[in-house]
Amino acid sequence: MKNAFLLHGAAAALAIAPAIAIAAPAAAETAAPASQAAADLPYPLTPEGAAQFVAAAEKDFYDYTVEASQVNWVNSTYITEDTDAMAARINAVGTEKSVRYALLSARYAAIPGLSAELKRKLDIMRNGLVLPAPTTPGAATELNEIATRLNSQYGKGKGTLGGKPINGSDIEAEMGNPDRTPDELKEMWVSWHDNVGAPMKDDYAKLVGIANEGAEELGFADVGAMWRSGYDMKPEEFTAMTERLWQETKPLYIALHTYVRRKLNEKYGDAVQPRTGPIRADLLGNMWAQEWGNIYPLVAPAGAGDVGYDIGELLTAQGKDPIAMVKYGEGFYSSLGFKPLPETFWQRSQFTKPADREVVCHASAWDVDNKDDIRIKMCIKVNADDFVTIHHELGHNYYQRAYKEQPFLYLNGANDGFHEAIGDFIALSITPEYLVQIGLLGRDKVPSADKDTGLLLRQAMDKVAFLPFGLLVDKWRWGVFDGSIKPADYNTAWVGLKRDYQGIVPPAERPATAFDPGGKYHIPGNTPYARYFLARILQFQFYKAACDQAGWKGPLHRCSFYGNKEVGAKLGKMLEMGASKPWPDALEAFTGTREMSAKPMLEYFAPLKKWLDEQNKGEKAGW
Ligand SMILES: [Zn+2]
Repeated sequence: MKNAFLLHGAAAALAIAPAIAIAAPAAAETAAPASQAAADLPYPLTPEGAAQFVAAAEKDFYDYTVEASQVNWVNSTYITEDTDAMAARINAVGTEKSVRYALLSARYAAIPGLSAELKRKLDIMRNGLVLPAPTTPGAATELNEIATRLNSQYGKGKGTLGGKPINGSDIEAEMGNPDRTPDELKEMWVSWHDNVGAPMKDDYAKLVGIANEGAEELGFADVGAMWRSGYDMKPEEFTAMTERLWQETKPLYIALHTYVRRKLNEKYGDAVQPRTGPIRADLLGNMWAQEWGNIYPLVAPAGAGDVGYDIGELLTAQGKDPIAMVKYGEGFYSSLGFKPLPETFWQRSQFTKPADREVVCHASAWDVDNKDDIRIKMCIKVNADDFVTIHHELGHNYYQRAYKEQPFLYLNGANDGFHEAIGDFIALSITPEYLVQIGLLGRDKVPSADKDTGLLLRQAMDKVAFLPFGLLVDKWRWGVFDGSIKPADYNTAWVGLKRDYQGIVPPAERPATAFDPGGKYHIPGNTPYARYFLARILQFQFYKAACDQAGWKGPLHRCSFYGNKEVGAKLGKMLEMGASKPWPDALEAFTGTREMSAKPMLEYFAPLKKWLDEQNKGEKAGW
């Protein structure tokens, strides 16, 4: 829900991290402090006045987002100095609006006797900023400058490999390169965190102080509490819920950790990776050890590691092009009973990389006019990853179209975990059986059940491995914002959380000056992270619900509900609600339960857990 006003129209928030933190520009400095008299308010401080205020704000935002989406679309698909300048201008207008409406909403929200509907909308606006600036003179400018500086430091950040500088995206790829030695991995890990993270520390501490003042003006205890207020429950209840979900999945994570640690020990020996205790952070194929899929070949089960087909090769063999791949994605949703994508989707989307200009290739889904002008922006290649990504991105588009009749402030997912989870849940359905049903895979080529371990382990290396990281990023920030983690302890607290939750340790002693959190984009980029944790859990709840509705009887991970109209109708009910109701209502509409639960995820991976437990016999589990 964060960034909703600025970005849901452009949908950038849905698929890619927002480029820059939202700090108040100069305009916020002239906005009225909450304590001031009502004379400066556009409407009286009465329930009727509040209703008029909300109606006017929704109209203003609606019109603004259409124009902003058009400009941002052109900028993303035709990058020049000019379109950069145009996008910066229109986005600054949006930031100013969000700040102004958040401050006003905080005042209208305090009126007694508001309807639940009005209160909900005011809360959404009050919560519509990621990084609020206080109204004290100069504060907004300073916050904006710090946020911009941090963001650009990250963007320009370099580590080294063999003593030579290497940029962020290249170093990320090299961390997943199986040919790199432990010494090279260590060099990249240490240089990245030292060069990129450490210089940010003082700025980050300053940013925390300023943004906290802004959050207090809006009526929140601190920024972390503000972020946790977007979930229809008290901030402390949200903390407890996420911790409960982690505890439910922890035994599965520990089993995976124990197995992977043994494989790393066998490959590298005791001196690099001991057989017991935590895992060295740089050996898992990812700079943050957040997803381990890159080292799957190292841990693949003998004889079951290769599933026997590759979707990219199947597509190529049939002469399929990128458009044909998108048609398959549309076909999935059509099979559930959703209307075909509009003609404009096919005319206006960017499917492949244009040959003659710079574009943003990062996949995203857009809703340009808040109605029917939905699009995807990708640089599709004919391979398995992009086939999955298409199904994922279209999930955003079908969600957007389903809730288009809602008032502006409800044009969003039920909470910020839902939007990502829809696409992921549909992508989970790309099972071998589905590939048979759409004519890509011959029935005789369907992998036998003994290949399931390989399929599940490959999924777990990304989806299960991610869970503790998905939670600890904001655990750390909640502590930083509420003051329980002091600037002097920023790094030790981060290293401690990584050890406690992930069972991961840095490859070298960290100096007192270190600021390792700064080496992860979402910290300098000020993007809340809990949504990614929620999405990992929710997608399995959605999948399980769909499979139950389809009457699936076999092991959960083999289920395909392709072609099931009943599932589609129920899913549609949840999607149509947008953000109009508390998320438990939306969850209930599709799954029949109001609680988030990790049980469906555990059921999906149950055969793998059993296999891991057998592999781990005699090993010392945990760290
Ligand atoms: Zn997405």
